[in-house]
Amino acid sequence: MTTLLLDGGPVAPDAPVSRTGGVPLGPAGMVWPVCGACAGPLQFLAQLVLDAGVLALFMCAHRPGGCAQWSPSAGGNLALLLPADGLVPVPVPHGADPEVLGLGAVRAAVPSAAGAATGAATGAASEGRAVLGSLGGEPDWLQYDETPDCPACARPMGFAAGLREGPDPVTAMNFGSGRAYAHVCGGCGRAALLWQC
Ligand SMILES: [Zn+2]
Ligand SMILES: [Zn+2]
Repeated sequence: MTTLLLDGGPVAPDAPVSRTGGVPLGPAGMVWPVCGACAGPLQFLAQLVLDAGVLALFMCAHRPGGCAQWSPSAGGNLALLLPADGLVPVPVPHGADPEVLGLGAVRAAVPSAAGAATGAATGAASEGRAVLGSLGGEPDWLQYDETPDCPACARPMGFAAGLREGPDPVTAMNFGSGRAYAHVCGGCGRAALLWQC
């Protein structure tokens, strides 16, 4: 079943809830991750609280389109499935431009049981609030089925969440006007992010 994630309005940057923007939470000692293609610090997009853990999503904002940001395996983005307990804000790297590290605003992404009935594919606002994404169900591929294989066990990963770019340019994630898809392999504790447009 699909549960819509609706825009819940501003929330604290380090809130331990599903949100877009703000600062990432990670295990104590976690270092801010870097792009596998250009080695610059990644931009933190969102965290989603799942049954399997906290999904943290990052993407390179140094060279939009230049680091294969859409690919689940090229290093231009990063998805981490973290244990929910003991997470603390990840220290911000010194000297980095805030705009390449984070989005322009922080928004709570509130699961909506009421939205489930309307389906995630409508793209319409639900209850008057913008749709930020969805949890569970089937991916609403804009192109073809691009289910990634787990890098650890090589089996197809399970679809965990979809993400939209967001309701306004200040907070927008850059998926080329498309949508992002997050998958996890719970058994291996791995996650992957890709997007299509
Ligand atoms: Zn990069
Ligand atoms: Zn696996």
